Amino acid sequence: MNYYFNKKSQNNWVECPECFGKKYVPCIHCEGTGREHPSNLGSKKCSECNGTGRQRCQTCFGMGEIKK
Ligand SMILES: [Zn+2]
Ligand SMILES: [Zn+2]
Repeated sequence: MNYYFNKKSQNNWVECPECFGKKYVPCIHCEGTGREHPSNLGSKKCSECNGTGRQRCQTCFGMGEIKK
């Protein structure tokens, strides 16, 4: 008898399709530019992402992978 336990059967986590495992997605508000007004180069930094141009992925909650 083979008692080998296949651990892969427990691994039902897959790479997040939204952020592709990067855990962050481009900020919707500033379109990833980090500016309050994406088309205005001189505008102040985005109030949504604090100028980083990215937001934590809401699909995987920043984990980079989701349960199947
Ligand atoms: Zn932003
Ligand atoms: Zn994600």
